[in-house]
Amino acid sequence: MRVAILTSEAVPFAKTGGLADVSGALPKALIQQNVDARLILPLYDQIDRDLLNGGAVENVRVEWRGQVHHVRFLYSDVAGAPTYLLETPEFFARPAIYGYQDDHIRFAFFSRAALALLKYLDWAPDVVHGNDWPCGFAVTEMRARRRHEAFFQKTKSLLSLHNVGYQGLFDAGDLWWLGFGDPPERDDFSLDRHASALKAGIIAADALATVSPRYAQEIQTTEQGHGLDWLLRARSDRLAGITNGVDYDVWNPETDPHIAINFSAEDLAGKRECKLDLLRRFGLPEDVNRPIIAIISRLVAQKGYDLIRQIAGSIVETGSFFIALGAGAKEYEEFLQRWHDAAPLQVGIYKGYAGEPLAHQIEAGADMFLMPSLYEPCGLNQMYSMRYGTVPIVRATGGLDDTVQQFDPSDGTGTGFKFGPYEAGALLEKIREALYFYARPEQWQKIQHNGMLVDNSWAAAAKKYIQLYQEM
Ligand code: ADP
Repeated sequence: MRVAILTSEAVPFAKTGGLADVSGALPKALIQQNVDARLILPLYDQIDRDLLNGGAVENVRVEWRGQVHHVRFLYSDVAGAPTYLLETPEFFARPAIYGYQDDHIRFAFFSRAALALLKYLDWAPDVVHGNDWPCGFAVTEMRARRRHEAFFQKTKSLLSLHNVGYQGLFDAGDLWWLGFGDPPERDDFSLDRHASALKAGIIAADALATVSPRYAQEIQTTEQGHGLDWLLRARSDRLAGITNGVDYDVWNPETDPHIAINFSAEDLAGKRECKLDLLRRFGLPEDVNRPIIAIISRLVAQKGYDLIRQIAGSIVETGSFFIALGAGAKEYEEFLQRWHDAAPLQVGIYKGYAGEPLAHQIEAGADMFLMPSLYEPCGLNQMYSMRYGTVPIVRATGGLDDTVQQFDPSDGTGTGFKFGPYEAGALLEKIREALYFYARPEQWQKIQHNGMLVDNSWAAAAKKYIQLYQEM
């Protein structure tokens, strides 16, 4: 079976969030199960050129807006799967991955070029597996081209929805020269007088997948459907929910090269050393007996910072340390700065994208990990936390609800703490509950162990994807 995975970000090349972790890990997991999986993404400025270890595919012909471009794909196998990175400086030699006026044009071009690469390689996949709105273009184009190009006739398309909140909206006036100006494409893109690459992809894909079963249900409701719930309900017979896995080659406290000392479920002693190391890194007092509550996330409303902001004073009053790593909206960065300034010996912050090492050091050194998300398609950090003996405190939404089990002291089961309503009071109550058990080491260690022993490896998720590919 041949699967081409198209993505806008993938570890270890370029990352803003969980999509990169998933896109980096899934192809490798598929290959381990004998699928011929290949990964295609753009070559951004920020990508470490040392990762491009395998030459290039030159002179791929891409027809674009009545012109012919000849582009190059650089090759790498460092992700454990053949990876092709599209070199088009005009669109991708920029500091960030997203956030430009012409993002829709950039990713429409990427989609066109990725499909051109498949033809150039004479490698017709069984499935083109696109991810999120940037690949809505490819999926839509696949449907059209399959009608008249023998090459793609047997190729099906799957669109993974990692976050329906990002819809790839742009001016519908651009559809025409992007090549989607006629029906049915024009209508498929139309959304509230704009065009949406995500919406078109949802309509055109042969199958849809979201990153947890719970999220697959949630996006079919008006509350969580971001205006596309009607469409997702209409396509629910083709919508699967597959929980992301964890790449334990990368996120494993027993082998992690980024952390101060390795440790395991059998011997947690090293975690104390990691905690000390973390306190030092954030310039906090080296008091290892006080709990560290941590958060790593993009600073967007989705992640629940509004709740944290409301109870910031009460968190400080508990006497805990709080460590936050995040990049994004200015209002949240400013809040973090004010919070740190008000309690510099308790609140440690890093504003910006820190790369992998610091994220691993926080997972290893913290005691508790906060994910009070408004919504969370899957969430990876709660699963990383569990493996590192860091107890997650989460809101019962999406993948968080699917992957974290509330601790039950009566029988010692459970891997974390989970609250329901999106309210600051409910979050604070869960933090207090977690602190109560933190002060009782025997029970705390039980929760840590329960989490560390959960198997969230990619192998199981990859099997489900393979089944989905086969059923398409
Ligand atoms: P999302 O995909 O919504 O961003 P996830 O929890 O699924 O949320 O994945 C987030 C990933 O991004 C994790 O690997 C996390 O460690 C990483 N991450 C988020 N923000 C930062 C940051 N500022 N610096 C380093 N890593 C970050």
